[in-house]
Amino acid sequence: MISLIPGDGVGKELAKLLIRLFKDLQIPLSFDIQEAGKEEYEKHGVYLPDSLFWSLEKNKVAIKGPMTTPIGEGFRSLNVQLRKKYDLYTNIRPIKELGPWKNPDQAIDLVIFRENTEDLYRGVEEMVSDTEAHSIKIITYQGSRRLIKRAFDYALDHGYPKVTLVTKANIMKFTDGLFLKAGRDLAKDYPTIALEEVLVDNMAMQLVLNPYQFNVIATENLYGDILSDLAAGLIGGLGLVPGANMGDGMAIFESVHGTAPDLAGKDLVNPTAFFLSACMMLDYLDLGAYAGAIRQGLDSLLSNKETSTRDLGGPLRASEFTDLLIQRVKEIK
Ligand code: NAD
Repeated sequence: MISLIPGDGVGKELAKLLIRLFKDLQIPLSFDIQEAGKEEYEKHGVYLPDSLFWSLEKNKVAIKGPMTTPIGEGFRSLNVQLRKKYDLYTNIRPIKELGPWKNPDQAIDLVIFRENTEDLYRGVEEMVSDTEAHSIKIITYQGSRRLIKRAFDYALDHGYPKVTLVTKANIMKFTDGLFLKAGRDLAKDYPTIALEEVLVDNMAMQLVLNPYQFNVIATENLYGDILSDLAAGLIGGLGLVPGANMGDGMAIFESVHGTAPDLAGKDLVNPTAFFLSACMMLDYLDLGAYAGAIRQGLDSLLSNKETSTRDLGGPLRASEFTDLLIQRVKEIK
């Protein structure tokens, strides 16, 4: 049993499409559906109901849609609350070219490991006066080390030659300096993997100029958040990038994108990112054969504009795309 959290906005449509995909492909998993988020609050007065926590603690694996967070005011991000409560310290965002964006000579193949529980996202902020606010950046050696270790292990397991650490340690000597030190210390345990160090501003430029030079990137929370959206732009947008939040005993899979309020309820969302997040979940659950077939189906559909979604210049609505995907995967199997 898997916890399925539809969330807000396009999350509701994505959850329905995923249920249809799994049912039609006879994937042997059942969903425990748990409502949460702003829309749940408006209906029942609570953002994250207790039943959601019980479900997560029982199932240990979840797939979740996006949840609304007000900008510049209001409650703290529900996503950040979940990541903190269950110590889901690793955020993994694979950025791989699909369909028409795939360059046969050079393909973008990046995996961003973003620390998920520290940094400015801890939310330790205060108004010092009406015109001055402070936010404290928290970085720990152990917190950095366990994230960077995940990146090195991934590089080793998947045959990638190097790990790139991204910081601004020239300016933030204590906090980013500590992250860098954790990486340098750890690198000694991985003699076959090269360690590369790049400053975040240079990284933003390098990713645009030559993204092919990078494989596995390990970075702090804020830099990882921004760089992974930038990297999403390189391969066709947020509709294509999946993600996973992992602790030591729990994993929550979710797309990188948000609630896309401009698309919600219109059947116009690209479900690829959500389906690829489900593929990461299937791999995690040792059901990789299903994941492989779905990825192949997505790649095949997105290779042709006529079978692509609207955000990629194609004609298909989300539900039509899902129907075609089911058909294509059945042909592949
Ligand atoms: P967004 O990701 O929702 O949308 C940014 C742009 O990308 C929009 O133009 C949108 O239409 C497009 N887009 C996003 N996903 C798409 C998809 N699957 N297919 C096609 N186009 C897609 O970001 P935003 O507008 O900055 O945020 C909206 C809300 O989502 C905010 O409340 C924010 O806090 C929340 N959010 C939640 C999460 C999460 O729950 N993990 C992540 C990011 C943002």
